Amino acid sequence: MPYEFEGKAAIVTGGASGIGRAAANRLASDGASVVVADIDRDGGESVVDGIESSGGEATFVETDVSSESSVKNLVDTTLETYGSLDMAFNNAGIEGDNEPTVDQTVDNWDRVVDVNMKGVWLCLKHEIRAMLEGEGGAIVNTSSISGQTGAGAAPYVATKHGILGLTRTAAVETAQDDIRVNAVCPGTIDTPLSQRFQEKTPEAFEQFVEMHPMGRLGEPEEIADAVAWLLSEEASFATGDMFQIDGGYMAL
Ligand code: NAD
Repeated sequence: MPYEFEGKAAIVTGGASGIGRAAANRLASDGASVVVADIDRDGGESVVDGIESSGGEATFVETDVSSESSVKNLVDTTLETYGSLDMAFNNAGIEGDNEPTVDQTVDNWDRVVDVNMKGVWLCLKHEIRAMLEGEGGAIVNTSSISGQTGAGAAPYVATKHGILGLTRTAAVETAQDDIRVNAVCPGTIDTPLSQRFQEKTPEAFEQFVEMHPMGRLGEPEEIADAVAWLLSEEASFATGDMFQIDGGYMAL
C-alpha cells in the first residue's frame, strides 16, 4: 500500500545495500525525498541513480554513523537540501566476527558497538534535535531477532538489544513532541550481510533458516513495507514499540 510521503524528507542509513536500499526505494516511490547515507559511496550513488531514473528524488551523503561530525553533517545537509527532516530509518549495521564470547576481541567489540549502537544513538540525537526544531517526525531503528534472543555473536546481540533500549528512551522523551520512534526486528533477510554469514558458516546458516517456521529467508522489501507503515501517519499511535517481521521465528 502506498503512503503519502510527498513533500517529506527521509534519511536512510545503510541505504546503499540490502534492507536500507529497499527502504530508500520504497520511501522514494511513495513520494519522499530520500537522503541515502552510507560509507559505501558507489553503492549509495547507484541507489540514488535508480531512484532518479524512476522519477523520484534522492541525494547521497557519505556518512559514517559511528562519527558524530559525520552524522551531524548528514542531518545538516538534509535540512539544507530539503528544508526539513520528517522521517529517518536508522538501519546501518555490521555483523562483526561471529566467534563465541571467549574468542571475541576488544577490537571487534568496539567496532560493532560503535557502528550498531553508538551509530543509532548519534542519529537519534541529531535527528530528534532537527525534528524538535521542525514539525516533528517519525523514526525507525533496525534491531533484529538477535535483539530479543541470544542468536548471534555477543557484540552483535548486545547492540541489537541496546537498540531496543535506545528506541524506548527516545520514544518516551519525545512522545508529546509529535515524534514517534519505533524499531523493526527482522528475522533472517536475504541481503549481502546474511550472504556473508552463509558463506562463512553454511551449516549454521541453514540451521538458522530452518528455525524460521516459514522455512525461507525474508526479502528486504518485506522489511521496507513495515518501515514505510511505521513512518506513515497510519501508525499515528505507535511509538516505543518493536515490530517483529521474522517469518514466525519469535513464535516458536
Ligand atoms: P547490508 O550489509 O546489506 O547493508 C548494511 C549497509 O550498512 C551497507 O551498505 C554498509 O555499507 C552500511 N554501513 C556499514 N557500516 C556503516 C557505517 N559505519 N556508517 C554508515 N553505513 C554503514 O546488511 P543488511 O542485511 O541490509 O542490514 C541492515 C540492517 O539490518 C543492519 O542493522 C543489520 O544488523 C540488520 N539486520 C539484518 C538481518 C539480515 O538477516 N540481513 C536480520 C536482522 C537485522
